[in-house]
Amino acid sequence: MKKIEMLNLAREYNDYGEEIDFAIKNCLQHQLWVNGPEVNQLEREVSQYLGVNHCLGVSSGTDALVLSLRALAIKLKGKEYFGREDEIITSAFTFSATGEAILRSGATPVFVDIDPHTFNLDSSKVLDYLENGNSGKVVGIVPVHLYGQSCEIERLMKYSRQFGLFIVEDTAQAFGGKFKEIKLGSFGNTGAFSFYPTKNLGCYGNGGMISTNDDEIAELIRMLREHGGKNKYDVSHMGYNSRLDTLQAAVLIAKLKFIDLLNEKRRKIADIYYSELSKVEYLTLPKIVNRDATHVFHQYTIMCKERDNLQLFLSQNGIASTIYYPVPLHQMKLFAPYIKNPDDLKNSELASKQVLSIPIVPTLNEDEILYTVSILKKFKN
Ligand SMILES: *Cc1c(COP(=O)(O)O)cnc(C)c1O
Repeated sequence: MKKIEMLNLAREYNDYGEEIDFAIKNCLQHQLWVNGPEVNQLEREVSQYLGVNHCLGVSSGTDALVLSLRALAIKLKGKEYFGREDEIITSAFTFSATGEAILRSGATPVFVDIDPHTFNLDSSKVLDYLENGNSGKVVGIVPVHLYGQSCEIERLMKYSRQFGLFIVEDTAQAFGGKFKEIKLGSFGNTGAFSFYPTKNLGCYGNGGMISTNDDEIAELIRMLREHGGKNKYDVSHMGYNSRLDTLQAAVLIAKLKFIDLLNEKRRKIADIYYSELSKVEYLTLPKIVNRDATHVFHQYTIMCKERDNLQLFLSQNGIASTIYYPVPLHQMKLFAPYIKNPDDLKNSELASKQVLSIPIVPTLNEDEILYTVSILKKFKN
């Protein structure tokens, strides 16, 4: 039986390993494991790639969110943390780290429902919340570009101007994604990236990055990631030890050269899935509702009413699949105390019951993609 995996990093290493070996060997020569030259080089290269003034390496995507929010609290409120009376809007259907970061910044998360076609924050529901007497409490929005597809970032930017809110883009799943040819992560006050190994641009451990055009925010994040001071021995803020390792930066410099090619391969696989599966009536394929959004297909996520049976059927045929995410945030114990609108989150609940992400890594070959297609077609036939 064939075995189709969600991820095969060994294969990717086979294809691109020479560059990575070279980058790692360089580090072995200079031995500067913390704040080595690769960190700054990566920051410069990613700044250029995204078209922003600053990029700052941090130790994870979660920390990229937390440090972004902490820096905004310091800049906007003059305090180390937001207060629980400060509300930050985000999606109910995302990785728990998005909501966790909001709590860790001191603020209260407000979970808003998703658009059922894109799985991204429904901007009209964001506007409803703001116009229903809540705009005084809300300080910002953390939209997520889920599965690699841009959220309605232009509309959210408009609301941010209208209501005086900040925006932190959770770009953990969308490195290289665009909206109207502008890179995701460059719209908001900051963009938060993750280089966790499974992400579409991944390193060999934990890693993250923050992009921003705001000099003051960049300076604050530079302090927060190293204990909270310009000088380690004289700190101003309650900081962290949250640097991006030199070695991870080196791996990322090597991989950055290929990211556009790899994202393009993901889109090609998505095209095959679309042309082969769009007529299979028990499957709902991901929709690109807005043509201005360039999807990088970090995940290819389908919906099926009999999702659990489909997943079992796939695994019986050697095909891996993953449920991102089986529980929406508002149904988790951590977030339960903050939920005011449990009845308004139906699309997130439905998604959690029906979504299934199927293999779309660029290292899949055509045989494997067509085999996956053939099994998906057989599920109910
Ligand atoms: C992966 C991910 C994060 C967290 O990134 P880490 O590097 O694992 O800390 C945050 N938000 C979303 C949407 C993610 O997918």
